Amino acid sequence: MTENDWFAQGDLVAVLTTQPLDRCLDYAAPEGGCPTGAFVEVPLGPRKVLGVVWGPGAGDFDRAKVRSVDRVLDVPPMQAELREFLSRCADYTLTSMPTMLRMATRAPGLTDAPSMRWVYRRGEGQPERMTDARRRVLATLEEYGGLAFTMSELSATAGVTNSVIKGLVKQGVVVEEATPRDLPYPRLDHERAGLPLSEAQAAAAAALRATGKLGAYGTTLLKGVTGSGKTEVYLEAVAECLAAGRQALVLLPEIALTGEFLSRVERRFGARPAEWHSGVTMTERRRCWKMVAEGGAELVVGARSALFLPFRDLGLIVVDEEHDSSYKQEDIVFYNARDMAVLRASLCDAQVVLASATPSLESWANAEAGKYSRLELGARFGAAEMPDMRAIDLRAEKIPSGRWISGELQRAVEARIAQGEQSLLFLNRRGYAPVTVCRACGHQIGCDHCDARMVEHRFQKRLVCHQCGETKPMPEVCPKCEVEGRLAPVGPGVERLAEEVVGLFPEARVAVLSSDLFGSARALKEKIEEIARGGADIVIGTQLVAKGHNFPLLTLVGVIDADLGLQGTDLRAAERTFQLVRQVAGRAGRTADRQGVALLQSHQPDHPVIRAILSGDEEGFWRAEAEQRRAVGMPPYGRLAGIILSSPEVAEVFDFGNELARRDGPLREVGAQVFGPAPAPIARVRGRHRVRLLVKAAKGVALQGALSRWIAQLRVPNNLRLSVDIDPQSF
Ligand code: ADP
Ligand code: ZN
Repeated sequence: MTENDWFAQGDLVAVLTTQPLDRCLDYAAPEGGCPTGAFVEVPLGPRKVLGVVWGPGAGDFDRAKVRSVDRVLDVPPMQAELREFLSRCADYTLTSMPTMLRMATRAPGLTDAPSMRWVYRRGEGQPERMTDARRRVLATLEEYGGLAFTMSELSATAGVTNSVIKGLVKQGVVVEEATPRDLPYPRLDHERAGLPLSEAQAAAAAALRATGKLGAYGTTLLKGVTGSGKTEVYLEAVAECLAAGRQALVLLPEIALTGEFLSRVERRFGARPAEWHSGVTMTERRRCWKMVAEGGAELVVGARSALFLPFRDLGLIVVDEEHDSSYKQEDIVFYNARDMAVLRASLCDAQVVLASATPSLESWANAEAGKYSRLELGARFGAAEMPDMRAIDLRAEKIPSGRWISGELQRAVEARIAQGEQSLLFLNRRGYAPVTVCRACGHQIGCDHCDARMVEHRFQKRLVCHQCGETKPMPEVCPKCEVEGRLAPVGPGVERLAEEVVGLFPEARVAVLSSDLFGSARALKEKIEEIARGGADIVIGTQLVAKGHNFPLLTLVGVIDADLGLQGTDLRAAERTFQLVRQVAGRAGRTADRQGVALLQSHQPDHPVIRAILSGDEEGFWRAEAEQRRAVGMPPYGRLAGIILSSPEVAEVFDFGNELARRDGPLREVGAQVFGPAPAPIARVRGRHRVRLLVKAAKGVALQGALSRWIAQLRVPNNLRLSVDIDPQSF
């Protein structure tokens, strides 16, 4: 792809739009001309749509009917690097280009006319009559003081109608000024010294800085136990990147972590970076998108979709907690942000840092094969040590039914409370009880639309389907046998565990951290900060607590059911359980003067995964896992793709799936095999039956081409949906 060519007025240009068409459309360049990559608004039928000038027009339309580009948007053109990235991503994930473009333009207000700035200065005027709506407008303007909004953004952000704003302008309380652009982010001071580094950190940081200086692509796996100081190390690489005048991107797996991280960046570089994730306001998102394009944002901290921002000169991508499954998007576009980060970096001569205490087997294998460099921080920072890890054998401990905390764990928690330290009880199950069963007939309450049980959420007083979100009140009588008063909870969720904890430790302050118990990212963040300050004695949490929060007073971690993830047939179960339980255990005793303890309740303490977690022999674990995968040709030693078919008609999905499986010629040509169709891991969601075909091929096979030829043989019926999942998470 060539660098930006210029088209003069009237020249034919090919425009890629966000509309679901299978090709670019020809338009005539507008008055003043436009370059390749220009963001434009073009007429399509009766509508105006967003597009990008992709290159010279194909010229295969009737010239007389070619319409003209309406206008060129006031944002920098999309660079060749991003165009190439989108098209490579589309090829890899078998996604259409318009869908990719939609991902890359998810900034609201791009097509709006130049923004206005609405200025409100407290003290210079009050509305004649203060209403709730007016108060919200003024509060919004104060919060985002100085930022440019469009009318629709301001009204949406404040939750008012346009007329409320117009009224305030008319009264002179709010002053309206036209501004051409959003404000750049404050400069980060990359010359500021960071914390004095330990020897191990300094060595790792020097190695990273050296790679950063090359101005070339490279990926480094930065491995180190939780608390070993990885963040401090990769912030050095960020400093080096900023010093070189290039932009940096840090991806985090969980929005709730960004607050803590932003403060850390502020301490390190004296200012807060740009933020990009679903919890950010529309105004702030548009500002981020534009500033990334114009160079007014040096560092972006964000969720996986930040990878598609229009960076002007991206020099470094950090993927923190790189093993985390939330980097995999399984909706519309199925992609793994970790892998796509490596792709993007290779196109823009950037460095990638994959940081984790428990790397994915994929990254571990890439490092083993020499494709990635590897840096390791052995010990924890300072004198802090990894927690003491022990199993509690539940076969020996007789816990009364309806209770889940063993005597040994109970005594350990008591000891912490007596010393003024915190305990974390980890159970990866939201809600009160995973199953509600009728004691009269044995019926288990399921979701009407999914192949899933309804989970009781007692705080909400409802049953909730964790697949589709459907909720219903807890029935009085069994929906099957209609006997009254015999429905009972089976098994624990965090809410039920909290009940047991309150009974055992009536004096303790208990906090439950589960994503569904917080209305907003902010509420969750506040709770986390309160706990970090010592505002709880016992924290009960789902996997939310595994991800990087820093609780200085926490010295005991109790894993209620270490076997939970090992059930089922998923080949990745061992890897996931190892990662999750090691991460959670690593929350204990992060400070220099306190030794942590992790107690794992298990019915099978001799299971190889539990033994590996306890012994901490990570290399041994990875090696054994790698051997097993290699033996059966599974990723990362083979290639997999999932084809997910869904339809309201169960017969239809199976018929279509079987027909596809029968016509496997294009797959056999490249030596690939197809398995299935089999019911997908969740066989029915939102009333749609789902089946999955798995395609397996040797490493190095150009699978995508064969897949497209294979799928193209059949026309997909109207109510059937077909999604391709390259590198599926579970297999
Ligand atoms: P990781 O990212 O590996 O989990 P962090 O970088 O978050 O580790 O470091 C763990 C803790 O140690 C943090 O509280 C951090 O502030 C502190 N820390 C790390 N490196 C240093 C250092 N060189 N000097 C002082 N404190 C440090
Ligand atoms: Zn459901």
